[in-house]
Amino acid sequence: MSQNNAQDSPSTFKRHLTKHSTLGDDTRYVNSKRQRQNSQENVEEVYNNDERIEEWIEPNMRHGITFNVNQAGNDRNQTRISKQAINYATDCHFPPIKIVCTPKIQNQNGAGFVQALTKHIEKKFKNENPTCKKLLAFDAWWVNSEGDMMVLTKCIEIFIHLCILANYPHEINNIKIEPLLPKYLPPPFSILIKFVHNHISIDEIRQEVKEKYISQYSCNELIGTKTNRTRHVRVDFTDRNDYNTILNNGQISFFSQLYTVNEFLEASKLVICSKCNSPGHMKKQCQLNYDRCRRCGCDWETGNHFECAIQCHYCSGEHLSTDYKCPALADYRCELVKELKRHPECLPEHVQLFIPAQCRDRNDRSHVITNY
Ligand SMILES: [Zn+2]
Ligand SMILES: [Zn+2]
Ligand SMILES: [Zn+2]
Repeated sequence: MSQNNAQDSPSTFKRHLTKHSTLGDDTRYVNSKRQRQNSQENVEEVYNNDERIEEWIEPNMRHGITFNVNQAGNDRNQTRISKQAINYATDCHFPPIKIVCTPKIQNQNGAGFVQALTKHIEKKFKNENPTCKKLLAFDAWWVNSEGDMMVLTKCIEIFIHLCILANYPHEINNIKIEPLLPKYLPPPFSILIKFVHNHISIDEIRQEVKEKYISQYSCNELIGTKTNRTRHVRVDFTDRNDYNTILNNGQISFFSQLYTVNEFLEASKLVICSKCNSPGHMKKQCQLNYDRCRRCGCDWETGNHFECAIQCHYCSGEHLSTDYKCPALADYRCELVKELKRHPECLPEHVQLFIPAQCRDRNDRSHVITNY
């Protein structure tokens, strides 16, 4: 794990990193024009599992495409999975939580604000998470340009605690607060109900689940799973007991029809360089000597790249070169999955990675990698 502190971090955010945070290395936060404009979008891009599931349902694989960018330690110009790519794929990435403040706060008041917030949640958190050894603190926090507080944690227990509105005070240091919570919880808190008939509305499903499992956090159709007759539904729970109970029951009924309940599995994440748009390394390690436009593939410094024609510089398809639907990225992900299969010990304990159908061996049809 690399170590960073606020001084050598490349970010323009005023951030406060802990000693062991890898955040400074994170492509989502690098000092890049394009990334800055879309920082929130990118966080969601990384976090949105639905998109990943969707792209594997419509396979569009081509073979033999490699990334011909010289990468550190890659002298033969072929796909090689770096340690960094492995770490990134298996690391937990929770989105930062935005706490809207009225009135807006100044950066110099941030420390006092965070301290008061931590103090408020401490007692309840410790009661509810007696086994959590982590110090109750954030991996990073910063005041954004709108004067709202952003907090980020890599600890799943703290993250879940922050996803429950009732755990927040109404005010901190006389500032009214309104936390904006993420749409989904991390996959270890999500289940999947497959092939639910379209005539049952999502509201009816939500109500039905909520009656039996009160900690339901969200209930949504899984993008890309809808057919004329059915679709898959993802349900997230803040309470581990509800999650375990519904999985152990293995079934749930809507209007007297039984449906099977499955774990919601996560696809591996790709680290994509914000300078050259290749997977497997970050900007700091990039060996390309110009910023490559992810729309047209040309030098970002020359010409107007807000309206240039979109043509992927890997496959010539009509998508951004960083789009997960690019067959070159799909190939890369398969290589990554194979490498992870060889090294399941890289996975944190509670993480289970989904193996897309295209990446499974003929002899080994298992669809999940776990570290146990
Ligand atoms: Zn690069
Ligand atoms: Zn361009
Ligand atoms: Zn492409």
